[in-house]
Amino acid sequence: MKLRTLGRTDVQVSEIGFGGIPIIPSEDLDLTDELINHALDSGITYLDNARAYPTSEMKFGRVLKDRRDEAFLATKTHGRDRDTAWQHLEESLKDLQTDSLDLWQLHDISTADLWDQVMGPSGALEAAREAQDQGIVKYVGLSGHSIEMLLRAIDSGEFDTILCAYNLGIHDTGDEVLPKAAASNTGVAIMKPLSGGIFFRREEIDISPEKAWHFVLERPEVSVGLAGIKCMRDIDQAVAASESFQPLSDDEKQDLIEKANYLGDDVCRNCGYCIKDCPQNIDIPRIMRIHDEGRVFPYEWPRFGKEYASIEPQADACVECRNCEEACPFDLPIVERLAMVHKRLAGRV
Ligand code: SF4
Ligand code: SF4
Repeated sequence: MKLRTLGRTDVQVSEIGFGGIPIIPSEDLDLTDELINHALDSGITYLDNARAYPTSEMKFGRVLKDRRDEAFLATKTHGRDRDTAWQHLEESLKDLQTDSLDLWQLHDISTADLWDQVMGPSGALEAAREAQDQGIVKYVGLSGHSIEMLLRAIDSGEFDTILCAYNLGIHDTGDEVLPKAAASNTGVAIMKPLSGGIFFRREEIDISPEKAWHFVLERPEVSVGLAGIKCMRDIDQAVAASESFQPLSDDEKQDLIEKANYLGDDVCRNCGYCIKDCPQNIDIPRIMRIHDEGRVFPYEWPRFGKEYASIEPQADACVECRNCEEACPFDLPIVERLAMVHKRLAGRV
């Protein structure tokens, strides 16, 4: 596994990391143990998690209790004030079965209001500095989807790392954020490097996971790309892409971006942020994928009827609380789209 320096921390981390969202739904703890062990055995050292990812930290902790020294362990707090952030930190350490973190990130700071809350008096950053002083946290980072807030974080000089999205479908972070991070020696972790796999489901789009990885890895500003891992193949594919890395030509890049654009901007990226607060446990990303694919490939709607019939609960369980829409970083009209899929497919097997 190739290593890269994580910005000003000077720590060498694997250029492929393990993102903790996709293992949230798994109830098979033997499988999640195997996945995390296989990632570590494959040379993946950077493990990323969040207090907001239900059960994910606990799943990592089961393995890390015996392999902590092999990992660069990162997690996040969605607490905005000092006290809540401290509470999250204590819960994270317990679930991760460790007494310290390599990196603690302020999670999803994507608006000026949130910025003011975490950076102001008694904000979450205060907890981070106290935890650093006590030796519980080594480095402090920030994650988010707003270019403006990411640039603000870099300019502030307060953060050792940022975590942002960059892939064939979301590449505007590459224009200003990545160069600026490099100029200030801020470490850069990339979320959604393969955009949740949306490019690979259709042969018409013709993008390979390997090329999508190379698009991310060729940026020298990137310290680590976080693979969304839910099966062994995700690990092996990412490791193989790192090993086979070749820079893309300008023509190749342009061609890949045009192919990715085929799906449009307004598609679900399968990031999973919407799942965690759904009181009805609806598999929102799966139903959103049916919606998005049905829109691009309308002749496929009959086939989706069978898939939709196997989903439990279905979209009509939605109570329209809109927690999912608040959590969606891409502002997708989830409730409306779930209702549309249900209307179109319920009972059509
Ligand atoms: S609006 Fe519906 S789908 Fe969204 S979180 Fe609430 S119940 Fe779940
Ligand atoms: S609906 Fe939004 S939050 Fe949910 S998986 Fe898709 S892009 Fe992510």
